Amino acid sequence: MTATTPKLLIDRFGRTVDYLRISITDRCDFRCVYCMAEDMTFLPREQVLTLEEIYTLAKAFVDLGVKKIRITGGEPLVRKGALELLENIGQIDGLQELVITTNGSQLEAMAMELKAAGVKRLNISLDTLDEDKFKAITRTGNLQHVLQGIQAAKLAGFERIKINAVILKNKNHLEVCNLVQYAVDNEIDISFIEEMPLGIVDQHDRSNAYYSSDLIRQDLAKQFSLVASLEKTGGPSNYFKVNGTQTRVGFISPHSDNFCSTCNRVRLTVEGRLLLCLGNEHSVDLKALLRAEPGNMELLKKAIIDAMLIKPEKHEFNVHEQPVILRYMNMTGG
Ligand code: SAM
Ligand code: SF4
Repeated sequence: MTATTPKLLIDRFGRTVDYLRISITDRCDFRCVYCMAEDMTFLPREQVLTLEEIYTLAKAFVDLGVKKIRITGGEPLVRKGALELLENIGQIDGLQELVITTNGSQLEAMAMELKAAGVKRLNISLDTLDEDKFKAITRTGNLQHVLQGIQAAKLAGFERIKINAVILKNKNHLEVCNLVQYAVDNEIDISFIEEMPLGIVDQHDRSNAYYSSDLIRQDLAKQFSLVASLEKTGGPSNYFKVNGTQTRVGFISPHSDNFCSTCNRVRLTVEGRLLLCLGNEHSVDLKALLRAEPGNMELLKKAIIDAMLIKPEKHEFNVHEQPVILRYMNMTGG
């Protein structure tokens, strides 16, 4: 890299990109109805980035100013070698925060090792505390394993554990107060997410299932006193504090509150495409470059810097139309 090569990733709209999310597998032990079809075909191994390729890409991004990396999937903890990868990425000089998003199914066995590997924080997906609804939403998940996983994460000493809950009308919208009470009881945070139209799902009509953050806030106000907080965690959540508790409640509202103007992130798909925006298809094939020119870090970094020029200004999700984005969330990582 020459002395003039920028050390920061800045797009055309002046946004600095310092946060990378990496999907390390498209596979998962759950089949959540908003994320996957029931019958999924996963990618052949050769199309998926190897652990070494993921590490090399992570290193290039950190050299270019990325400070936070989130490992996600699919379910990241079902990929063989995930722990070792986390440990290696965690040691990259300049990286300030390594975090993961998980469905919690493997946490009971892995929480301690994740902590030892240098993972700073965990986001754990949990959409309901009701066994039947949990089965209906995840299709193959086991609620007790996830709840035990959350306790194991607390025991391992993880702080500021956050639950992510996607709320769908008539599936789990009546669960929001129970989930916040669970978060309060366990001194953890929770974010509610509006469903995004990624991939064709076969089980529900997304426009009928839309349940806005405003409605959730109204439901919660009947039981909790929520105090608006100016606190930001570098993400799209708007936060409230549950009065008199440690718990923060966040709302990620891609439909009702567009957060694109402060976007600081890009995503690396499981196939090694650098995706510039979750709601658009603008991407650059970094895997092709890596495999054509193995070890050429300068070329890789130049491609990443150049990619900033095609980062779109904002996403254009429309809950009332068929999705224009045909990829599923597990490819790109939520
Ligand atoms: N398997 C892990 C998990 O579930 O936490 C990590 C990957 S998952 C794709 C990441 C997050 O994306 C989860 O919190 C999940 O609820 C969310 N998600 C998946 N599909 C979504 C969709 N269509 N709209 C909004 N959020 C979605
Ligand atoms: Fe798997 Fe996470 Fe998608 Fe659910 S949301 S199917 S747990 S990747």
